[in-house]
Amino acid sequence: MTISDVLVYPLVTVRRQYPTVISKQIHADGIRPVEESYFVIFEVLTDTGLRGIGEVSDIEPDALPDLEQLGEGLRRALVGRSPWDVANILAVLPEHTSDRAPLDSRLYACAVDMALYDLQGKAAGVPVYRLFGGARREAIPISAVVYIRDAALVADEVRERREQGFHHFKLKVGLGLDQDEASLAALREAAGPEAKVKIDPNGAWTVEEAIRCLRRLEKYDVAGVETPIPAPDLEGKLALKREISIPILEHVGTPEFALACARTGAVDVFNLALCGCGGLYRAMQVAAVAEAAGIGCLLGSTLELWPGTAAQAHFGAAIGPLRMPSDLVGPLMYQSDVVREPWSYQDGLLPVPNAPGLGVELALEAP
Ligand SMILES: [Mg+2]
Repeated sequence: MTISDVLVYPLVTVRRQYPTVISKQIHADGIRPVEESYFVIFEVLTDTGLRGIGEVSDIEPDALPDLEQLGEGLRRALVGRSPWDVANILAVLPEHTSDRAPLDSRLYACAVDMALYDLQGKAAGVPVYRLFGGARREAIPISAVVYIRDAALVADEVRERREQGFHHFKLKVGLGLDQDEASLAALREAAGPEAKVKIDPNGAWTVEEAIRCLRRLEKYDVAGVETPIPAPDLEGKLALKREISIPILEHVGTPEFALACARTGAVDVFNLALCGCGGLYRAMQVAAVAEAAGIGCLLGSTLELWPGTAAQAHFGAAIGPLRMPSDLVGPLMYQSDVVREPWSYQDGLLPVPNAPGLGVELALEAP
């Protein structure tokens, strides 16, 4: 099987269910909610007729690629190679980057890696998780993610998600402690005492602010706080851990950072996302460090569509230490998608697809 071409679809724009706010959206001119997300979908074509799907997920509006440059870069990196040659292809991707097609970034590496494994699975007639040792679970427990909004809307959203079968929640916080507390109290009330509730200020706090905020919020039985202070600050997290008993969750994207987190003991649970690691091949290496260190993981998300969510589900099926509900809620947050038959969440779980490859089929018009 040899790669013969790459087909890049026109930019996909998808509206969110409601304009979302996280602490990162505070700018000098006020808060800018996110109303829509941008994706590039491409297919890697082969001489066998099999096609592998790549999704570049939730691209920042000021970093949209030039699709022609992207297609050229992908063709230079991929055509003539075997889809089984993942490590070598990932290694040469940065050489084919250009100013408006950043193939040296993890977001784009993730899309390429996903397409290669989709092809491998289709060629072998097996779902992707079987290429990584088989499924250790058939479904991924999910926390519905609630963004920063009025406490009354938070309560409404949580009740609606509970009716859809979700039991666990993650609340975005960090725009002000009074609002955070009102929202968290409303969420806990609506979610019930059994719900695992995580909070995520997206790195908005200093160590001192984190201590002050978490002391006030911990009475709502918080299962974990994600990125309480900027992600790389492990010293700060150790200082925080001396004062606060809430587990600290952090995005971990490389084996090197995973080792640093494990050695210092600054992080309790790794948040692993394929786009943060640069795809399945590299994410498995990070998960291996977590497993060796006895550290639990959850799957983070950049709000993928169904192809990207499927790739994450296969990863989540295959890794060992998945110990907390995961944030794979992209398809819940969008008003439309790019696949022919979206599958669905069941009783708060994301079932892992079982068809060969990623298990999704595109419903996009060929360009
Ligand atoms: Mg996060």
